[in-house]
Order: sequence, then structure tokens, then C-alpha cells
Amino acid sequence: MRSISLGSIWLIMAATGFILAGTGCNKSDKKGDPQARSNPKSEKGDGKTDTLHSSWWCAEHGVPEEICSVCMSPASAKKKYKDNGDWCSIHNRAQSQCFKCEPSLYKKYEDMYVAKYGKTPERPPEEEFKK
Ligand SMILES: [Zn+2]
Ligand SMILES: [Zn+2]
Repeated sequence: MRSISLGSIWLIMAATGFILAGTGCNKSDKKGDPQARSNPKSEKGDGKTDTLHSSWWCAEHGVPEEICSVCMSPASAKKKYKDNGDWCSIHNRAQSQCFKCEPSLYKKYEDMYVAKYGKTPERPPEEEFKK
């Protein structure tokens, strides 16, 4: 008698626990996921350029991130550009990336983006093209 009733109780508890855990899991999944995704967006504060702000493209400066002379460390920029005479000391970036001095330079990097993604990137802020 005892063993049967204990077994039944255990089964009911297990079943109830399983169902509760199951629904709890589903709820937290549905609620937690969008929150986890939206939080980094709001922290960055650039929700509209989020799809373009991949790790590959620097939307702010209109060049691929890995060669962005503004975003890379000063030491890297010096080694990669400054030491090769490719430097705009007025705007503190590679001369070949200085759209402030030469706005038409942006076309070259835009083409790199188009070649990779098949669409044009969002143009950097107009300040990037002003002297
Ligand atoms: Zn940059
Ligand atoms: Zn310049």
C-alpha cells in the first residue's frame, strides 16, 4: 500500500514539476530573448544603424572596421598609415580615409561594402565630409 501511494505521489509531483518547469522555461525564453537582444542596441544608442554596424564595417567613419584609422589603436594607425606617409595630421586619420579632405575617397570604401554585402552602406554622418 505504502509503496504504491508513495510512487503515485512521486509520479504526480514529477509530472506537475515537469509541466511547471516546461511552461516556466518557455515563458522565460520568449521574454528573455528579445530583452537580451534589445539591451545591447540601446546601450550602443544606434538602433537604426544596427544591421550595418557589424564588426566588419565602421558605419561611423565609412570604412571597414579593421582598417579604420580612427577606431584602431594609435599604435596600429601609426604602424599601418603614419609610418607609410599616409596620414592627415589635420583630421588625425589616414589620408587615404580622410573624407574631410577628399569626400570622393568614400566611394572606394563604399564599393568594398557593396562587393561584400551587395548593397550600399548607410552614408557616414555629414560631419565626416566637412573640413
Ligand atoms: Zn571608425
Ligand atoms: Zn584631412
